[in-house]
Amino acid sequence: MNANLFQRLSDAVADTAKIAIETSDGRRCSYDDIILGAGRYANALLARGVSPGDRVAVQVEKSVAALLLYLACLRTGAVFLPLNTAYTSAEVEYFIGDAEPSLVVCDPARRDAVAGISGGVPVETLDAAGAGSLADLAGEQSHAFPTAVVETDDLAAILYTSGTTGRSKGAMLTHGNLVSNALALIDTWQFTADDVLIHALPIYHTHGLFVASNVTFLADASMLFCPKFNADEVMRLLPRATALMGVPTFYTRLLKHPDLTREATAHMRVFISGSAPLLAETHREWEEKTGHAILERYGMTETGMNTSNPYEGERVAGTVGLPLPEVELRVTDPESGAELEPGEVGMIEVRGPNVFKGYWRMPEKTEAEIRPDGFFITGDLGKIDERGYVHIVGRGKDLIITGGFNVYPKEVETEIDSVPGIVESAVIGVPHPDLGEGVTAIVVRAEGASLDEAGVIAALEPRLARFKLPKRVIFLDDLPRNTMGKVQKKVLREENAGLYSG
Ligand code: AMP
Repeated sequence: MNANLFQRLSDAVADTAKIAIETSDGRRCSYDDIILGAGRYANALLARGVSPGDRVAVQVEKSVAALLLYLACLRTGAVFLPLNTAYTSAEVEYFIGDAEPSLVVCDPARRDAVAGISGGVPVETLDAAGAGSLADLAGEQSHAFPTAVVETDDLAAILYTSGTTGRSKGAMLTHGNLVSNALALIDTWQFTADDVLIHALPIYHTHGLFVASNVTFLADASMLFCPKFNADEVMRLLPRATALMGVPTFYTRLLKHPDLTREATAHMRVFISGSAPLLAETHREWEEKTGHAILERYGMTETGMNTSNPYEGERVAGTVGLPLPEVELRVTDPESGAELEPGEVGMIEVRGPNVFKGYWRMPEKTEAEIRPDGFFITGDLGKIDERGYVHIVGRGKDLIITGGFNVYPKEVETEIDSVPGIVESAVIGVPHPDLGEGVTAIVVRAEGASLDEAGVIAALEPRLARFKLPKRVIFLDDLPRNTMGKVQKKVLREENAGLYSG
């Protein structure tokens, strides 16, 4: 059997005339449009010399064409490499150098900038208006394309994660990873062809691309495709939808909407949250206002989804639920690696068909994070309670999650420290009512340096994606350190805990 995810998606379609995607501007695409469109893009990729196994790096705004390009990569057996649209040229240059794609696709406005850093790799745009656009080329192609035959273990995508040392790692995801995870989620969340998902997530991340889109397609369901999250738009769509997948920020923003009531959500079947911790308070407020208990799940780039609260059965606020079918989860002592007893806090490790193949061209990093018995060391600290529910209590890697985006402090610190007039810095996440956590920089200035908060942020702007920029910069004479010389971030977090709450 062909393990190609695209083959599985097209096999799942019962009625090709059914509308699969409706966009905010009213465009409706049937499953037929999607399958034939993916065929045209696959032929366009072939015409541009893309072969099976080649990487196709894509940094474009969310659109149906971008989804078709993703599906076309699957069809050709190429490796889809989506990049966050917020990444700066310097960041994109690193990804291109590391992944060595055979094609880069970007928005027309960035064409010149990307061509300047692509190191000779051909650059295409996705806008139909530009001459030589990949969309134009696809429009001229035949829709017929023989879907590449692949093995379960063949690569479907590479998603870059933020590295703890400031260098991103490319997580290699296989067709088998993506198919198994989507099927497990369909089963757990009881998705059917009757479902209509509000898709307001970005599609360069595992959540919007794999969880939301693959689940919709493999369930033969449909989606209302929004360019980005907008509370008014989501409120308007609720009466036509059955499901919403969001980051916690979606829910905190919707809770502030005056129209959110039981009646407004009466047509909905399920509200799902993930990518960052959902406050138990948000869970409770949502249930009070709407009568729906948000279903929280836990996953990551390297593994797709690992756990979920049950669809039937208790959805426990503040927990991420139970391991998905075929996923094994254990908690180990971070030092010794020995498995801990239920209730004890330690490192969360997972094993299953969802676990990625390894980091692109980083065998040592892969070996350090996947144990010989196949368990992946997630970097998240947590415990399993007596009922088997998983609780995440902290992040071993000091990750900051702001509005659903991950920021590793080390990367921001490295950039701050390189600004003239700065001695050192510590970057922490501080509770933020809207974003979950706000990126906050604690900075030590050189003697006599006159740099102020606005000056530091201005210096960082060209170097870091917007979501990584500190919301506030606090100046101190010295950073607090323990006897081993390590900066005590805990102290800094405590001292600044109220920064965004006033
Ligand atoms: P990413 O690789 O961008 O998907 O980020 C993965 C990280 O997000 C995980 O390692 C967790 O630290 C965090 N995360 C994802 N889902 C949840 C959740 N439901 N609760 C708490 N943390 C989460």
